[in-house]
Order: sequence, then structure tokens, then C-alpha cells
Amino acid sequence: MRVCCPHCGTTARIRTSRSVSEISREAYIQCQNYQCGHSWKEIQTASLTIVPSKTPNPRVYIPTSASTESARARQPGADETTPRAAQSGGDPGHRYPSPAGRDG
Ligand SMILES: [Zn+2]
Repeated sequence: MRVCCPHCGTTARIRTSRSVSEISREAYIQCQNYQCGHSWKEIQTASLTIVPSKTPNPRVYIPTSASTESARARQPGADETTPRAAQSGGDPGHRYPSPAGRDG
């Protein structure tokens, strides 16, 4: 995935990344422009299912566009006003769904 520096727009390099949950990764990124030198951390989260997995992980819940649209339809006017935990270093919103039954 191509990443650009938010300050100067130069292509940046992902120095290291690790999984923080099934649906989130954090990456440490460094701008390649030596005159800028910006270095930062990003958190990437799977936010929307476009095509469902054929081998779904029961611990993973990523809403589909249909469920997102119906949730939005229930709250007219609530487009980007959903309260969101924007704290850095914390849990980036990962939640386990209620247990979806067991194999057996
Ligand atoms: Zn830069």
C-alpha cells in the first residue's frame, strides 16, 4: 500500500508494522523527503466488508455496506457524528462479537 506524508506529500516508507487485533494493524512510517523527515504511526482498521469471506473467522466482525446503510437510515442526519474513541495507543475499536456458536 502506498503511503504519502501528510505534511509534504512525498511517498513515505513503512518501516515496521504489526497486528494489534484481527482487524487492525499499526504501522510506523517515515517520510522519504530528507528535508521533511516526518515520522509517524498509523492504525489501519478493516472498516467495511465489500465481499464477505468464504472462510470467515468467527472472532471477526466487519460490518457490510448493507448493515452500515441500515444503521445510518435509523439515525437521520447522523452521518459522521458517531462518537469514536480517537485516543492514540489505546484499543482502536476492536470488539469481539457475541459468541456465534461453537463447532460441533
Ligand atoms: Zn514529508
